[in-house]
Amino acid sequence: MSKSIVSIVKGTVAKKMVEDALNHLGGVESLIREGSTVVVKPNGGHEGPPESSVCTSPAVVKAVIEAIQKANPKKIILAEAAAIGCDTMNCLEISGIKKAAEEAGVDDIRDIKSDPDLIRKKIENPRSALRNIKLPRFLLEADHIVNVPIFKTHVSMVFTCALKNIKGVVQDAIHGTMHMTNLAAAMMDLWSVVRADLSIADLIRPMEGYGPHTTGNPVDFGCIVASQDPVALDATVCRMIGLPIKEVDYFEAARERGLGVVDEDKIEIRGNTIKEVYKRLHLPYLEGFAAWPEYNFYIENACSSCQGLMAFSMAKLKLLDGYDMNKGIDIVLGRKKEIPEGVRFGKNLILVGDCTKALKKKIDTAGESCLFVMGCPPGEPLPYWAVVDRKDQPDLELLGNPKKGRKRMEDENEALLKKMKTQRSE
Ligand code: SF4
Repeated sequence: MSKSIVSIVKGTVAKKMVEDALNHLGGVESLIREGSTVVVKPNGGHEGPPESSVCTSPAVVKAVIEAIQKANPKKIILAEAAAIGCDTMNCLEISGIKKAAEEAGVDDIRDIKSDPDLIRKKIENPRSALRNIKLPRFLLEADHIVNVPIFKTHVSMVFTCALKNIKGVVQDAIHGTMHMTNLAAAMMDLWSVVRADLSIADLIRPMEGYGPHTTGNPVDFGCIVASQDPVALDATVCRMIGLPIKEVDYFEAARERGLGVVDEDKIEIRGNTIKEVYKRLHLPYLEGFAAWPEYNFYIENACSSCQGLMAFSMAKLKLLDGYDMNKGIDIVLGRKKEIPEGVRFGKNLILVGDCTKALKKKIDTAGESCLFVMGCPPGEPLPYWAVVDRKDQPDLELLGNPKKGRKRMEDENEALLKKMKTQRSE
C-alpha cells in the first residue's frame, strides 16, 4: 500500500514555503488540473487581525492562490462560512484574507452563509445525527477544494487544523446541528460529502495556549505543512508539536471514515523532518484536573473534547474570580452510570455533555435534580456559565440569542486575556 505523503517546509517567506511544500508533493500541476475550478477554503471564521493568529495568515492565503495560478485553472474562488454569530465578510476583512486574495488575483470571494443556491446531500452511513447537509452548488461542483487551515489549540476539540477547518463550509443551521451532536463524528460525516483534495496548513505562527480565539498565544514556528491526506497532515502536525495523538479522539473517527492514515509508518515525510522542526507547544487542554482540588470531578470515559472544555472553564474560573465562590461543587463528565456517592444534588451538581444524559435520567427518576449542560461537546462558554450562573441548560441562552451569547463570551474572553497578560508580566 502506498504511503500518504506529507511535506514540511521550514522557512521565513510564505510564498517560497508554499511553493516548496507543493513541489515536495509532486508540483502544483500534478495536484490541480489545468482549466479546473478551484475553491480555496482558509480559516477565516472569526474576527481576528493577522497578528492574532485567529485566522490563516493573509501571506499564506496569497501564496496559495499564486501557487495554484501556476497550474492554469479556469477559476479560483475563495470561500468561507464564519462561525455562528460572525459576519463572514467582516471576518475576511479584519483578518486581511480578503485583501490578500484580491491582491493575488482571486476570481471570486463567496460568503457560504448567504449563498442561496444549495444542494441537499445525503450522508451515507452517518456516524452523527446529520442525515442530510445542504451545501453550496459551487462548492460541490468545484474540481478541487484546497483547504488552508491555521493550527490552533481548540477549547472543545483540543486543536484545529486540516480536519476541523472543513466545518467552515456549512451554513448556520447545519453548524448548530453539528454542535448538538457528536462534533467529531459530524465533522467526518461532512468530510464524506465534501472532500478537500489538498490541504496546506499554516504553522508559521500557530496558536498555543487557550485557543482558538483571543485567549490563545501566537508562537513563532515557521512551517508550512501540506498533504492530500488531511488525517496524515494533522497527525504529523501533532508529532511536530508534542501533542499525543492517542489523547485526541477525532483521529479514530477520521480513520473509521477512511479519510486517511494516522500511523507514522504509513506516512512519508518530505522536505524537513519532524525532528528538525519539532517544538513543543503549550497545550493546556490536555493537563489534568488535579490542578483544581477544591472541585470534585467525576470523570468516566469522557473524551478529550469535554475534558479540554472543562479545563478551559476551570482556568477561566480561576482567572475571572469565580473559583473561590463556587468551591466544593460536583462536576460529572463522560459516561458515568452510577450516581457518585456523596454528591449534593440540585445546583451543586453539574452534568457536562450529552454522555451524562443517562445519569441525568437516573437522577430525575430518583426524584433528585441537577444542572445539565447539553452538547457533544457543549458550546465553548457553557460549562463556565453553568458554574457561575447555576442555571440549567445554559445552551438555551447561547442558541436563543446567538449575538447576545457571543457578546457575553467575547467580553469574558477579553477579560480573561487581560488577566493572562497581567499574570505573564508579573
Ligand atoms: S459528550 Fe463530551 S465526553 Fe461525551 S462524546 Fe461528546 S464530547 Fe466526548
